[in-house]
Amino acid sequence: MCHELAIRLSTQEAASITRGTAIEKCLAPPRSFMFEPMRQGQLLLCGDAAHIVPVSGAKGLNLAASDVHYTAQAVISWYEHGDGDGVAAYAGKGLARV
Ligand SMILES: Cc1cc2nc3c(=O)[nH]c(=O)nc-3n(C[C@H](O)[C@H](O)[C@H](O)COP(=O)(O)OP(=O)(O)OC[C@H]3O[C@@H](n4cnc5c(N)ncnc54)[C@H](O)[C@@H]3O)c2cc1C
Repeated sequence: MCHELAIRLSTQEAASITRGTAIEKCLAPPRSFMFEPMRQGQLLLCGDAAHIVPVSGAKGLNLAASDVHYTAQAVISWYEHGDGDGVAAYAGKGLARV
C-alpha cells in the first residue's frame, strides 16, 4: 500500500513516508437486507434504515439521497396540496431502485 501511495505522491512527499509492516488486514463481510415495504403508514424509511447493500456496490449513499429526494417530494405534496399519492408511491419507487 505504501508503494502505491508513493507512486501517487511527489518525490519529496513519497520520500517522507514512514513505512511499516501491515499488522491487520480484513475484508468486511458483504451483507444486505431490506425492509419491505419501506413505509409504515405515514412513516417513510430512508437510506440504510430501509436497506443495506454490500459496500462493494458503492451505491448506499446514492440510494439514501434518492430516498430523501422522493420523501421530500411526497411530504411537500402532502402538506402543500393534501395529495397523498407521493407517500403511497414512495415504497415502490424506493424498492425499484434498490
Ligand atoms: C466502508 C464503507 C464504504 C462505503 N462506500 C460507499 C460508496 O463508495 N458509495 C456509496 O454510495 N455508499 C457507500 N457506503 C454506504 C453509505 O455510506 C451509506 O449507505 C450511507 O451513508 C447511508 O446514509 P444514511 O443517511 O441512511 O445513514 P448514515 O450515513 O449511517 O447516517 C445515520 C446517522 O444517524 C446517526 N444516528 C444513529 N443513531 C442515532 C440516534 N439514536 N439518534 C441520533 N442520531 C443517530 C448516526 O450517527 C449517523 O450520523 C459505504 C459504507 C461503508 C461502511
